[in-house]
Amino acid sequence: MAVQAQLFYGGRWTDGVSVSELRDKYDGALVAEVHEAGAEQVTAALEGVARGQAEHRLTPYERFEILSRTAESVRGRRDEFVRTVVADTGFTVTDARREVDRAVQTLILSGEEAKRIHGEMVPWDAASGAAQDRYAFTVRRPLGVVCAITPFNSPLNTLTHKVAPALAAGNGVVVKPATYTPLSAGLLVRTLLEAGLPESLIAVVHGGGSTVGQWLLESRVPAFYAFTGSTEVGAHIQRTVGLRRTQLEMGSLSSTVVCEDADLTKAAAACVNAAFRKAGQVCTSVQRLYVHAGVVDDFAAELTGIVAASVAGDPRDEKTLVGPVISEAEAVRIASWIDRAVQGGARVMAGGTRHGTVVEPTVLTGVGADMEVHCREVFGPVVSVRPYTDLDRAMDEINDTPYGLSAGIFTADLTKALDAVEKLDMGSVHINETSSNRVDLMPYSGAKQSGMGIEGPRYAVHEMTQQRLVTLARP
Ligand code: NDP
Repeated sequence: MAVQAQLFYGGRWTDGVSVSELRDKYDGALVAEVHEAGAEQVTAALEGVARGQAEHRLTPYERFEILSRTAESVRGRRDEFVRTVVADTGFTVTDARREVDRAVQTLILSGEEAKRIHGEMVPWDAASGAAQDRYAFTVRRPLGVVCAITPFNSPLNTLTHKVAPALAAGNGVVVKPATYTPLSAGLLVRTLLEAGLPESLIAVVHGGGSTVGQWLLESRVPAFYAFTGSTEVGAHIQRTVGLRRTQLEMGSLSSTVVCEDADLTKAAAACVNAAFRKAGQVCTSVQRLYVHAGVVDDFAAELTGIVAASVAGDPRDEKTLVGPVISEAEAVRIASWIDRAVQGGARVMAGGTRHGTVVEPTVLTGVGADMEVHCREVFGPVVSVRPYTDLDRAMDEINDTPYGLSAGIFTADLTKALDAVEKLDMGSVHINETSSNRVDLMPYSGAKQSGMGIEGPRYAVHEMTQQRLVTLARP
């Protein structure tokens, strides 16, 4: 019998109202049967967590202990988590290990933050004419129920970035993972429960965005929505949930600049990793590489040399750099964008072909500004090398998208680096690193249509709590 990915609510693993098949992203084998929630089950899950959150008053130290034990347990069961992430996503084992190791860090960081939730003293008596017999201070309180809606491309760590800070802050959580990748969420929830999380503080509901996702948005129960995914769905969430708080990590079109004074070998190796890990399905993946015209040939040779020697195919083979993308439909779309770019005059320096769900890591040059591979989010293993001569104009082009998540610049020139910091309208600018540079403790957020709110345990815990001002006068 296939693995059953059930719902969890009301303290029990439960069948859904219907079942769909989860297939391996590489060979199409049956991986699991996924139970999809009905509307009444979604309501029961939300209301159960709301009751649980109201009843359970875990101390900050208890929350720290639960999250720390969960981190230890994930670390101890690393191989099982890696297998599950690969089964969910088709990521290579190398990418899946990174995902699991980062989730451990996110759990540790969130647990630590549970002990650091505090308000501040307010200098009431410093106000002109204020009563002098008072104290004023703030405290931070949990919001209630956090609803976490997550994408397919980071089914464990992105989920952990929502669940762990929400629990650290004293909230309950209802989770809806992406339809493509339900298994990692189930395993994380099991591990949290084994680590002592009260059953009524968490629920997992599987099902489609337009059904289960929509019911979650229409419920009045969640006080906070933590979402990662496309800008289109993020905008829909904000419109639907009205004045309730959200954290929206959304789409991107990420660029990295390689200046004429950069260390080309170092830059090329970093760009290969940032363009092709998780088969390019990362919001900060390098999609556009702006390379100074004076060094573009040398840089392109370095880049294509590494890519041409790489292996694309079976994600469970240790040698594989690029595994499948999430579905055949996505692979077909990505290949069609490459084909149309080539018909429009672009040149394929490496890759360019598709076998089933695997798109070979592809390097393009001669890409026009109006080609899909340049002006739309590819979310696949495709990078375009675009020569520039004027750095200011290159940065104007980098800014000229609806997005503003992250950018990188490789240069030995401090002036160019600081110009980039000032000019690039991004949530993050990385000097001598790619747009994809990240550790889990950093504040992670996007400008423009890439995001609202800040991810990273310290910042997320702050957002998932409500400040309350207290004034205290002598009786
Ligand atoms: P989607 O926006 O398609 O889906 C994200 C989640 O939203 C899924 O769980 C999906 O469910 C759900 N959803 C879809 N429609 C609704 C709805 N009407 N109501 C509630 N929930 C809904 O994104 P993808 O999974 O395709 O992920 C890729 C996108 O995510 C890219 O644009 C990428 O840039 C972005 N992303 C951004 C990051 C950031 O930090 N800024 C990081 C990672 C990815 P279902 O799966 O069932 O459709």
